[in-house]
Amino acid sequence: MNVIVVGAGIVGACAALELLKSGARVTLIDAGPPGGEQAASHGNGAWLSPASVVPMSTPGLWKKVPGYLLDKSGPLTIRLSSLPGLAPWLWRFTRAGSTLEKVEQTARSLSRLLRDAPERHRQLAKEAGLEHLISHNGLLYAYPDKAAFEAESLAWRLRRLNGVRWQEWGAATLRHKVPQLADKYGFGAWVEDGAHCLNPGAYVRGLVDYAIAQGANFISGTVSHIDKQGNLTINGQVLPTDRIVIACGIGSGELCKMLGDDIPMRSERGYNIVIKEPGFELPMPVMPSDGKMANTSTNEGLRFSGQVELADEAAAPNWQRSDILLRHAASTYPAIKDKVFDPARMTRWMGKRPSVADGLPVISQSRASPRIFYAFGHGHIGLASAPKTAELLVALMHNKATYADYRVERFY
Ligand SMILES: Cc1cc2nc3c(=O)[nH]c(=O)nc-3n(C[C@H](O)[C@H](O)[C@H](O)COP(=O)(O)OP(=O)(O)OC[C@H]3O[C@@H](n4cnc5c(N)ncnc54)[C@H](O)[C@@H]3O)c2cc1C
Repeated sequence: MNVIVVGAGIVGACAALELLKSGARVTLIDAGPPGGEQAASHGNGAWLSPASVVPMSTPGLWKKVPGYLLDKSGPLTIRLSSLPGLAPWLWRFTRAGSTLEKVEQTARSLSRLLRDAPERHRQLAKEAGLEHLISHNGLLYAYPDKAAFEAESLAWRLRRLNGVRWQEWGAATLRHKVPQLADKYGFGAWVEDGAHCLNPGAYVRGLVDYAIAQGANFISGTVSHIDKQGNLTINGQVLPTDRIVIACGIGSGELCKMLGDDIPMRSERGYNIVIKEPGFELPMPVMPSDGKMANTSTNEGLRFSGQVELADEAAAPNWQRSDILLRHAASTYPAIKDKVFDPARMTRWMGKRPSVADGLPVISQSRASPRIFYAFGHGHIGLASAPKTAELLVALMHNKATYADYRVERFY
């Protein structure tokens, strides 16, 4: 079976490797360098977290939307000018979390993809000779006090229901384990099974190199057209193939439309800043409850990534969003409060999370053709969930039954 995989981000890379294992001949296509800055897989928070089962949309979210339109410094913002275009997606997004039952179901569907993500990445990295890029020190959620932790009881209940284990640390333990944290944090929940990647861009690049070493072909170019017969046009040429996998993150929506599948997916733009040589290494990644950003020591520096900005697809980055990350970084780690504002030490990045309105990815055969498959829309969890996604995708391609909750038919 000849398979073309469109997109060499983390999802396309894992899909290619799983397909090679199943005996397929694989061609990977990407418009940019694998793991390059154009990909969401490049600059994410690097968390490989079984605890990321909490959907973005939870009951009562719609009441907060006016605040998001007005608050310029919170973790979530909506550009007013983009609101009309976003309204249908927002409507579906808020409805997806309108009841506790729906939220619990979404958490279960996410957990299936995430439960053993750290172990899957450990094995994958070992196989590809990239062990040095995966670290297993758990993941820490930091709060001012226990009351702030308890205020997020829904999130922790969903985690417990899905088998996530954590240790609760009081102020003294927190201080002892993570001395770099500011005194304003007095309580921590440490998810011991969590892991992180030390350089997601290099990891994706390494996985693609490994796929090439295993016999995959890589073509650089943009897929500009695809039709229901499976004719795929790249660099002005139609490529023949037996199967196609569309795994190009936020770029997937356009290609699916050509096939008659209009997926309710928008980009939730996120930002990161990386502080080079911060002078310390965090013993494990941290998510402070006030900034809602992943703080992760990577081999390029201390990375702060977060923010959700709903805006037009083509709108220019709003670097004020990364200034918010800078201010949080300065107040979370006193030791770097002077370094974070030094432009020579800091880089910025904006990326697009491919977010489907119901909070779940699309891992599915297309409706147009039994030869065309989808693997995209992983929102906030694509790095962690890519290996399991690849396994489900390849099972589908071999006519094995998988789960209806990720199929494209759910929108029709
Ligand atoms: C700020 C931020 C923090 C995040 N933190 C985490 C985290 O801690 N943990 C986690 O698990 N996830 C996290 N995520 C989410 C995660 O990064 C994404 O879900 C994941 O990277 C999506 O991977 P992908 O392969 O689907 O898409 P991408 O990585 O975007 O790759 C898609 C590729 O397809 C290519 N492409 C697009 N269109 C075409 C076309 N027409 N022709 C050819 N090539 C094309 C692009 O060039 C790109 O290389 C975060 C995201 C952001 C933005």
